[in-house]
Amino acid sequence: MDFLNLLFPKYCINCKRLGYYICADCFSFISFDTEGICAVCSRYSINGLTHPRCKKRYSIDGAFSSILYKGVTKKLIYNFKYKPHLTDLRKILSDLFYEGLIQKEEFYSIYQKSLSNLILVPIPLYKSKERARGYNQAEILAEELSKRFNIKALPALKRVKKTVSQVGLSKIDRRKNIKDSFEINQNLKSAIKSHYIFLVDDVFTTGSTLMEASRVLKRHGARRVWGLTLARD
Ligand SMILES: [Zn+2]
Ligand SMILES: [Zn+2]
Repeated sequence: MDFLNLLFPKYCINCKRLGYYICADCFSFISFDTEGICAVCSRYSINGLTHPRCKKRYSIDGAFSSILYKGVTKKLIYNFKYKPHLTDLRKILSDLFYEGLIQKEEFYSIYQKSLSNLILVPIPLYKSKERARGYNQAEILAEELSKRFNIKALPALKRVKKTVSQVGLSKIDRRKNIKDSFEINQNLKSAIKSHYIFLVDDVFTTGSTLMEASRVLKRHGARRVWGLTLARD
């Protein structure tokens, strides 16, 4: 055990075993079993693409999640919000994110076919919220995916409306709550035009956030938009 570990010992976030943030036993509880769903209607969809019948002009084209948001995963993501754990969790979570994505055939084929034209765009936080937390998790995840996939990450969206927490809201209320909360960052307007975009966020619940972000990006000329989330509820 090195000096830093003596000062700040690591405990498994699930079983409290000393030495790791997540021990091998608890790691094995993480489920990659995220079958495809349509981001618009939340029903089963082969490969995670939006059903043709659910698509409107600015709809998101599909959504991919790496792991299930339950048990150990919930604890990992919760702890990701606290700075002392950040560096280690950043690596663990982005490894899980990456591994889960490359296992998905549809995602991988989009990635390969569109590589030269792809951009990662993190879902932004409202400024005061980001200041209070010190960082935006979605941005950190996008930076890590950017290195692993060799795709540029750009903060093309900004949050212009302070929303109440989406927790506990119905799908309809979530949509109302998030509506008009994003705008394009003017200096990146030309960077997204005619591009394929991977939107990055930590958790997928009803898809409202991804749908609203997709609408704004497509209205400004993005050709295709897919959501990538670390975990799905
Ligand atoms: Zn453990
Ligand atoms: Zn659908």
